[in-house]
Amino acid sequence: MNHFTLPSLIAVVLVAAPFCRGAGPASRTPVAPPPKVVAAQEWGSRPDPIGDERRHTPTYVTLHHAGVLWTDDRDPVEFVRNMQAWGKRRPEIEEPPRNTYWPDLPYHFMIAPDGRIFEGRPLEYEPESNTKYALAGHIGVELMGNLDAQRPSAAQVESSVLLVAWLLDRYGLPLEAISTHGKVAQGQTGCPGRDFARYFEGAPRPFDAWVGRVLRGDPPGIELGPPLEEGPTELITETKRPAK
Ligand SMILES: [Zn+2]
Repeated sequence: MNHFTLPSLIAVVLVAAPFCRGAGPASRTPVAPPPKVVAAQEWGSRPDPIGDERRHTPTYVTLHHAGVLWTDDRDPVEFVRNMQAWGKRRPEIEEPPRNTYWPDLPYHFMIAPDGRIFEGRPLEYEPESNTKYALAGHIGVELMGNLDAQRPSAAQVESSVLLVAWLLDRYGLPLEAISTHGKVAQGQTGCPGRDFARYFEGAPRPFDAWVGRVLRGDPPGIELGPPLEEGPTELITETKRPAK
């Protein structure tokens, strides 16, 4: 006869469950932080303090594009510094309703065409947005460029995959925590642009498959698709500064 009554068996399972994750063949080494990170102090971040009421617990990783055409004469460091300075000055330079004061960058990470990942707003604070959705819980990852008009570089996509895998691992989040701005602010934006948003469609979503491999300790095996019909054909690294 079984020694366990059903309630006591359930109790044993519940108590044991938290320890199962790290035991046996399912255990794995933590995901390494992505290479090519440029720390906030390295690029000269000068944020204002952010209020405690903006603290949050990360539960989603949400992908964006800048929505501004990237040209080969631009410097990512300058781009990030300018965006931060602009957010702090919005009440003076923007008309309502787009004049909300942003003490720091709206995103937590910004990825340059060469794959460098610039650290933005500290992860313990919710992001900012010009669209309406519940901001708390979202980690904002932005790719520089307008990905409706130009295609992301392989380096940029790879950095986004390695970064998202590291974030999911760090916060114990599932692949379902990965989303895009267009999905969380439905009907309000085409962000992160057609040529990047495509990797967040289908079942399984290609982006999830790449992140999943990194979580298992394998290379991401990223394969970018051909240009979309009526989509952009030029890579972000090929867009020249327009002639004056
Ligand atoms: Zn966005």
